[in-house]
Amino acid sequence: MPTADTQTIYVNADDKPTREGVLHFTRFSSGDRMTRSLKVLSGCWFAAGVTVFIPIAHFILVPGFLIAGPVMAYFRYRVDRANENVAVQCPVCDESVTIEMEAADRLPLYTYCPKCNNSLQVAEN
Ligand SMILES: [Zn+2]
Repeated sequence: MPTADTQTIYVNADDKPTREGVLHFTRFSSGDRMTRSLKVLSGCWFAAGVTVFIPIAHFILVPGFLIAGPVMAYFRYRVDRANENVAVQCPVCDESVTIEMEAADRLPLYTYCPKCNNSLQVAEN
């Protein structure tokens, strides 16, 4: 079962003092990763089965989905955590902000403050 977890991170902005923040993410166990990858694999192969009935396009779609299934399942299996957001006090505007992250974002991350729109660097240390 995926578990929510947190990690201390640091947020920099050019010449401003570094602020400590909290990264919220979801951690996937080995079983979760296998389940997620099998869902992707079955979805792609199901799409391959459905596209068999589309004339002409099935020459491209069926082999495409059959090949994409294991490839996408492999990449999905490699994902052991999904980043959600960073809660921090902005070093520039001193407001408490929540910076939303994409699941695949990796640190260090260069982003913008949602309040003052200044550039920020989110790093692990
Ligand atoms: Zn700000």
